[in-house]
Amino acid sequence: MSVTRIDNERWLSCDECGDDQDGQYEKDDFQPMVDDAKHAGWLIRKNGSTYEHFCPTCRDKAPPVDQRKSQGWSHGLKKRRFA
Ligand SMILES: [Zn+2]
Repeated sequence: MSVTRIDNERWLSCDECGDDQDGQYEKDDFQPMVDDAKHAGWLIRKNGSTYEHFCPTCRDKAPPVDQRKSQGWSHGLKKRRFA
């Protein structure tokens, strides 16, 4: 999950390339932030117990959800990336 937090400002950052979402949101505006991101083409999905965010450029490159992680016994592979 990549949600950048600075003081009361929030915005999404791409898990793949690190790009920031256009716009900033107050800490209580989580839902508008997510809605705007989806309208802009972001992919937001749940993978196991975490959320992943991919910008419109990277969403097609998002790796498949790791089913093992969803079953909760592969925490050691959490940061593993497949190039
Ligand atoms: Zn990206």
